[in-house]
Order: sequence, then C-alpha cells, then structure tokens
Amino acid sequence: MLSRRSFCGCVTLSLAAASVLGTRAVAAECAVMTPERQDLTPDQAIARLKAGNERLVGGKTINCDLVEQIKATAAAQAPFAAIVGCIDSRVPPELVFDQRIGDIFCARVAGNFVNTDIIGSLEFATKVAGARAIVVLGHNDCGAIKGAVDHVKLGNLTATLANIRPAVAASRAKGERNAKNAAFVQAVAETNVKMAVAALTARSRVLKNRVAAGQLRIVGAMHDLATGRVNFMA
Ligand SMILES: [Zn+2]
Repeated sequence: MLSRRSFCGCVTLSLAAASVLGTRAVAAECAVMTPERQDLTPDQAIARLKAGNERLVGGKTINCDLVEQIKATAAAQAPFAAIVGCIDSRVPPELVFDQRIGDIFCARVAGNFVNTDIIGSLEFATKVAGARAIVVLGHNDCGAIKGAVDHVKLGNLTATLANIRPAVAASRAKGERNAKNAAFVQAVAETNVKMAVAALTARSRVLKNRVAAGQLRIVGAMHDLATGRVNFMA
C-alpha cells in the first residue's frame, strides 16, 4: 500500500514537472523578437532560419498564439532577418522558415529579383530596423522564371519579367533554352538568385558597408517545392 501510494505520488509529480517545463518551453519559443533577442551575429541569424526550415521539413513546427504575438509586437518590431522571395503561393517565407509575427521582413515579387524599391526596403530592414541577414530565396519550377525564359508578354508583367532576362542570358544548361527544359529553368533560377545577391552590395553602399562591418550577411538559397527544403548557397 505504501509502495503503491509512493508510485502514484511520483507519477503525479512527474506529470506536474513536465507540464511546467512544457509551458516554459513553449513560452520561450513563442517569445517575439525584441532588440535584445535581435542582437545576433549574422551567422546566428542564418542558423536561426536554417533551424526553422529543419523544423518545417521534420514536421516539428512551433505552434504559437498569434493573437498574443500581435499584442506583443504592436508597439515595435525587431526582426532578425529579411527575405527576398517569389510571390509563389507555395513559398511563403514565414512558413518556409517556421517564423511568426515580427520575426522577419519579407519582400516578394514574381521571380525574386531586386530593384531600387526592394533594395531601399532592405536598407530600411537592416540599417534602420536591425535585421542581421538577408536571404534571396528562389525556388524550382518558378512560373516567373519560365515566363522570362519563354519571352512571355502580358501587360505590366512584360516589364516585370525583363528583370529576369539578364539571368536567362547568363545561364547555361544542356538542351533547349526554353521553359520545357527543367534543367535550364533551374539554372536560370539559381543564376537569378546569385545575381540578386551580388546586386544588393553592388547597388547599395548602405548594405555593402554593413556587410563589410560584419553586421550583415547576404546569402542566396533555393527552395524545393516538392520537399519544402531550403538549400543555402553559402
Ligand atoms: Zn516563383
């Protein structure tokens, strides 16, 4: 009787301890970014994104109370990274990197190229708001890349796709240079990311200075639509 009581008491205590620990763990994971928590090295910021993508791919995403996060970020924001991504509905940066309210800036445009407006936005995201990393995120089977490869003409989209033409011209792959050639489309998508990464420091003294000072890292990455995995280029 004594041992039975002891056993039951032990189980109860264990459950209580697990409950408390679990509550604390979830609270820490869901804490919103603050200037103190944003104070990462650029490498740590990239590692944080990689860890988030690993959680996604592994089916272990963090489930937070977004309403609580909205309340907690209403007065200020301190995102640790900025993503330049495609508008593709299957590549939402917050979900791809398992991030939430106030965690990352996102600039999205068909074909994830950069122009003056996006570079200016990234200057704000880093120099003013303190983000430590920029990821230019391309993806396979991209409709914008295919459109640029095939010289698609449609309203304002014609001018949008013109931003990707330099990557088309600079890319090589076996087979025909059209959207039916998946290898060529992938080559253009990767070249397009690399050109955007290079353009950020070539066209922005603000970003170049932050990289030189060790306050910012800019990397390219490719997302795989079939797996959700992001492969970083550096
Ligand atoms: Zn796309």
